[in-house]
Amino acid sequence: MSLNQLSALEIAARVRAGEIRASEVLEASLAQIRRLDGQPGSLDEKPLEPAEDQKIHAFIRQTEDLARQQAEEVDRKVAAGEDPGMLAGVPVAIKDIFTLKGIETTAASRILSNFKPPYTATPVQKLMDAGALILGKTNLDEFAFGSSSESSAFKPAPNNPWDTSRVPGGSSGGSTASVAAEEVALSLGTDTGGSIRQPAAFCGVVGLKPTYGRVSRYGLMAFSSSLDCPGPIARNVSDTALTLQAMAGLDPHDSTSSTMPVSDYLEALKKGVKGLRIGLSPDYAHLFYPDFETGELGMESIQSEISQAVEHAANVLADLGAEIVENVPLPNTRYSIPTYFVISRVEAASNLHRFDGVKYGYRTPDEVADLQELLRRTRAEGFGSQPKLRILMGMYLSAAGFAENYYQRALKVRAMIRKDFERAFDPQGEFRLDAILTPTTATTAFKRDDFFGNSVRMQYSDQMTVSANHAGLPAMTIPGGLDGNNLPIGIQFIGADFREDLILRAGFAFEQATRDEAWRSVRPAALRQEVE
Ligand code: GLN
Repeated sequence: MSLNQLSALEIAARVRAGEIRASEVLEASLAQIRRLDGQPGSLDEKPLEPAEDQKIHAFIRQTEDLARQQAEEVDRKVAAGEDPGMLAGVPVAIKDIFTLKGIETTAASRILSNFKPPYTATPVQKLMDAGALILGKTNLDEFAFGSSSESSAFKPAPNNPWDTSRVPGGSSGGSTASVAAEEVALSLGTDTGGSIRQPAAFCGVVGLKPTYGRVSRYGLMAFSSSLDCPGPIARNVSDTALTLQAMAGLDPHDSTSSTMPVSDYLEALKKGVKGLRIGLSPDYAHLFYPDFETGELGMESIQSEISQAVEHAANVLADLGAEIVENVPLPNTRYSIPTYFVISRVEAASNLHRFDGVKYGYRTPDEVADLQELLRRTRAEGFGSQPKLRILMGMYLSAAGFAENYYQRALKVRAMIRKDFERAFDPQGEFRLDAILTPTTATTAFKRDDFFGNSVRMQYSDQMTVSANHAGLPAMTIPGGLDGNNLPIGIQFIGADFREDLILRAGFAFEQATRDEAWRSVRPAALRQEVE
């Protein structure tokens, strides 16, 4: 097995023990990136060589020099008998929405194409302090606005390692693709409506959205501040636990970060699922899609192989001694997308005000008559269509006269969505759940261009994930099987506030119990072509 295939836990253990050097691990990762990643995303629309069509294109920018310095430092510490940290020598990729001091951080937007931040985001800093090697910045939907990574201003957009004619999901598609393609062991993403979990499901990796406030948002380009959560992406549950351990905790730079002590997530995994109460909800068996003629919400079935995977997982967990609680009502989940549409657009419009061509980022090169024209031209040239649409929508929904009907009402529905979960998790209540098991997505990865340009349809691929953002709850997707096209299926565990330990335990137990199932030995198509 080559070093880039090892888990983060194995790499860190072997580097710490002096069995392998961080610099060797780094070389293996760099070689894999050279083999598979192809041309990095860029703003100039060069025509692509045909072979590039089959590449992953996870990265916008590689930070090889930085990673080399970090590897040297880890190796020096090991040689000197110092503690190199719990992620010693582990290759990591960062969604290009987290700042990294002195290195362009673009949010995949032209408007930030030349922005070199003067500080590093807290979650990134914490991984670096733990000895991780930062290999680069990954592509995403512009400002994380999307579910396919296709809205990036940096082309080519990333492809899915399981089938390069399909999207990796989004918005953290570059991050999940880089982990699935074994270019890095771990990556960081952000999840506002599902942007870690949906692409992780599409790419067959694990992705965790922590409880709101568990991980600092300092250094994150704000999208919808009341929903945004940074979180880890990895190839298995224990690596996810390890990374969360390194990232979580109070940050004086983010007043919404929590003072709750951080649990020992790795230790929690050992406890198994015996006695845990895991809920299933009929409200996660369908997609609720609006009929624009009538305004009614119609129901569509989700892909049957995905429902079967959830059922299979429930059976496996029951065999392990978990108590499966059926028919848990979560009726307001069906309103979660319309509610998200309103809240996220209003907050995004407000957050995007800061990009004006005055303080930082792109500025129109043309002569302008006055400040108004400077702002207008800079934004017209610098923003792609998603930011423009969302600013317009957000301004409209929050305007005097409309806010009551839309924004204020959305906040009320959001509170109702949260209440559904409070009832399900209430330790004195009827259900007393430890976790809820659901599909992560209604379909497996779709083809490039299938939904691109249809913002509403695209948005509905977050139907199963977005309620956890509204409610602020932790939720994790793990691989649960493959469909008939050999595309990964994600299953999701949603937990109560700050109970990441419980969803990690449930996910780990399922992962261990299904280790020898046939689908586990199928590798992403892009890796099957590799000469090993
Ligand atoms: N797909 C959703 C959107 O476009 C969620 C994105 C996210 O979680 N960042 O808003």
